[in-house]
Amino acid sequence: MTDQHTEQRVRRVVAEIISVGDEIVSGYILDTNAPFLSRSLADIGVRTLYHTTVCDDMTAMTEAFAVAFRRADVVICTGGLGPTQDDLTRQAAAQVLGVELEFDQPSFDHTVDLFKRRGRAMPESNRIQAFFPKGSRIIYNPNGTAPGFVVEQNRNLLPDAPYSPGNLKSGAELEGEFVFLAFPGVPAELYEMWKGAEGRAAVERYLDHVLGENRTVYRSKRIHSFGLGESVVEAKLPGLIDRDHFPTVGITAKESVITLRIFAEGQTVEECDRQIDEISREVFSEIGDYVFGEDDETLAQALGNNLRPQCRKVGVLEWGTRGKLAGLLDADVLAFGRVFGGADAEEFKRFFGDSSTTPDELKKGRDAKETFSSSFYVDGVPASPELRRLYDAERRGQTVDYLLAIGPYPCALADANTKRGFVDVAFVDFRDPDNPVVRRDTFAFGGQPAMIDALFCNRAMDILLKNQ
Ligand code: ATP
Repeated sequence: MTDQHTEQRVRRVVAEIISVGDEIVSGYILDTNAPFLSRSLADIGVRTLYHTTVCDDMTAMTEAFAVAFRRADVVICTGGLGPTQDDLTRQAAAQVLGVELEFDQPSFDHTVDLFKRRGRAMPESNRIQAFFPKGSRIIYNPNGTAPGFVVEQNRNLLPDAPYSPGNLKSGAELEGEFVFLAFPGVPAELYEMWKGAEGRAAVERYLDHVLGENRTVYRSKRIHSFGLGESVVEAKLPGLIDRDHFPTVGITAKESVITLRIFAEGQTVEECDRQIDEISREVFSEIGDYVFGEDDETLAQALGNNLRPQCRKVGVLEWGTRGKLAGLLDADVLAFGRVFGGADAEEFKRFFGDSSTTPDELKKGRDAKETFSSSFYVDGVPASPELRRLYDAERRGQTVDYLLAIGPYPCALADANTKRGFVDVAFVDFRDPDNPVVRRDTFAFGGQPAMIDALFCNRAMDILLKNQ
């Protein structure tokens, strides 16, 4: 670890994200704004320390803001900018900032215009949406009536009572200026506003301002692997995942996909890219055989990218996973999907049952004409009759190059107490149609059935990826 890195760690800009709304706190909707903002901030080198969720209540909101303004440099709030009485973000922010609300004519005109274009009269209550804490800049909202706002302020100017900074327990009390951004709660509006001149760009200007020459560039890359456990990957890459390793490398596991996230920091993009390349080479030399993709690439996409150029078609037979695998595979890759009853082990046996299975029996699966029958699912939802007819027409007579099958489950549970059982995943390679190559793997599993579904879809795709 270099001195330079030690120094940068001491004064790193940190963020808090506040999601406002009774719906979120009471559990009726999932907060997707905070994860989006955390990822977006990480891209520009801002580490999020806190996600706070607060209901539509003036006292709760002012407390949340007061705490956030003292422990984070970048505070971003979403929600509570609507026109109704429970939308309190602007009032709570103004109170904690110690400023009045000020009317902004262009924002008012924008809202009036929006109503006019929709052929409706603007209710008087919408007027409140043109008020902002004094000193803020407006974040234009092209798609809705709630503009956002951004304020930069020095902490020393915050009114003290009743939030004595000394009461903060985290010890993260900071000096100097912070920046506060408020966006409406609707995710699509937030995403677009974040890209605009007073969204991400406002945070970047703040970073330039507080960090000056010390501001560094950040780049990250994710490398996905399948087939090795998290601890095995960690053991194969000793030291890499240490918290004080630079560039930072994090490891996460989801549905047995192990992701390494390399986060580089440097004076230039080229310097970051060099750091990332160096780590990538190390990763590939150790676990390259298990790597299937980078960044947003999923196993299904990796498969599609390999199969599409060769015009390879895949058939899917699912007993236990209720069409999930068919849903995951791109329509370009999938020639047909067929879902059998979860408890019906007989049909699985008929195709893959034992060594006596003949090529002719296998070919029945390959040439299945009842493809996209009433049991076909798209994204786990039964396909409409129209959609089925369309697929049927397109795929009539289609035979497949590969067949993937996930056996009966969870009826295959061997032991109700331990919840351990076995799932068969079968794979048939029909490229030489007279001599299909069958591979059948039996995997032990334990734990929650809902999680196992995704895991076995991944296993099936991985088998195909490694055997084509
Ligand atoms: P509006 O003018 O649309 O009322 P607003 O800023 O008041 O804007 P909210 O009323 O808080 O926003 O939220 C509007 C809708 O946006 C919510 O009903 C919810 O569906 C969605 N939403 C709000 N916050 C979030 C969040 N953190 N994550 C995901 N969806 C959210």
